[in-house]
Amino acid sequence: MVNTTIKTTKSQEIFAAAQNLMPGGVNSPVRAFKSVGGQPIVFDRVKDAYIWDVDGNQYIDYVGTWGPAICGHAHPEVIAALHEALEKGTSFGAPSLQENVLAEMVIDAVPSIEMVRFVNSGTEACMAVLRLMRAFTSREKIIKFEGCYHGHADSFLVKAGSGVATLGLPDSPGVPKSSTSTTLTAPYNDLEAVKALFEQNRDEIAGVILEPVVGNAGFITPDAGFLEGLRELTHEHGALLVFDEVMTGFRIAYGGAQEKFGVTPDLTTLGKVIGGGLPVGAYGGRRDIMSMIAPAGPVYQAGTLSGNPLAMTAGIKTLELLQRPGTYEYLDQITQKLANGLVQIAQETGHPVCGGNISAMFGLFFTSGPVHNYEDAKKSDMAKFGRFHRGMLERGVYLAPSQFEAGFTSLAHTEADIEQTLAVAREVLSSL
Ligand code: PMP
Repeated sequence: MVNTTIKTTKSQEIFAAAQNLMPGGVNSPVRAFKSVGGQPIVFDRVKDAYIWDVDGNQYIDYVGTWGPAICGHAHPEVIAALHEALEKGTSFGAPSLQENVLAEMVIDAVPSIEMVRFVNSGTEACMAVLRLMRAFTSREKIIKFEGCYHGHADSFLVKAGSGVATLGLPDSPGVPKSSTSTTLTAPYNDLEAVKALFEQNRDEIAGVILEPVVGNAGFITPDAGFLEGLRELTHEHGALLVFDEVMTGFRIAYGGAQEKFGVTPDLTTLGKVIGGGLPVGAYGGRRDIMSMIAPAGPVYQAGTLSGNPLAMTAGIKTLELLQRPGTYEYLDQITQKLANGLVQIAQETGHPVCGGNISAMFGLFFTSGPVHNYEDAKKSDMAKFGRFHRGMLERGVYLAPSQFEAGFTSLAHTEADIEQTLAVAREVLSSL
């Protein structure tokens, strides 16, 4: 354990026990703090912009349960709606009105989505969209980008981001070569590389899938013309364009990156925010393509808990809250103040960094940058990031425990929270 000044007795006890019960003591790898070192904290409760650990320490939270908590944790209106829904039971496994309501909200919001199917996670959404891309085009190959993460399905574990990058496991054992031989990769923001792949694999590529703004290799924005270029190339080659907006959907704009950048893909995957903190994913897009999904069409995809009434309820209420005037202006204002402040303070204290934000998503790399792709992101000083992370944590600020993750703000973060965070950052960065 590294120089912990906060009390972590109970966290240590619980996490030690967890290690005998669950692999690495966790149910999702990045939570184990492997890349930043030190004792992972064990949570007790969350509210607004804050989390409390089992030892009673309070933190300002910039992880937001990895994205869903855009209205702040345990928003009273979400909780009230859930209480009401709970009285009617926890699962129907049958059609419900709530599914229609959330489906309509998603269709109205996201430019590419004419029809939608709800699933239980972002991973499931991406798995399903992959099958659909292949079925619709009768082609097997796909193009993904280095450092982008689309969940843990076999075909996507090729040069993937998030925990795969954090733990240095780019190509997981157990994934058959046959599953990845059809996954072609290119550096993010490199249109020429994509063009070359299309030329080398004429009439074989089903489509291109990407994070339209990357969060899983740290925060990386698309260069001007990149998304437009992909739209043109996919059209030209009869391939589909898929935006994985599991992270960016309803976060960087109500209609996601496709609204923000004015580029409409054929299909879109969603998750996180649309479940308001309950397990949800979704995929949707052009009606002619979505009509291939069973039972409307032959492409099979199903789920016992899909469209779960509690998850739909939390999603509906969350989107209603986001529709209120000023939401994205406020999110952009506080997040810009945070991201610019962090960059400025780091530079003033002598650390080469680069970073930025789009609305409620931000990042800070410990490299002077610019960072256009995963190779650039890997130039970051990981050891320094680890010390920064620990210093912030010890002073009550909880950041994602990896250089290869984006940060998230919420409507519950106040100007005072941001100022407090920047004051803490100055102290930590001055001491590194
Ligand atoms: N796609 C993207 C862009 C993601 O950020 C994530 C999760 N971080 C996923 C897919 C997978 O979602 P889940 O963890 O809900 O399976």
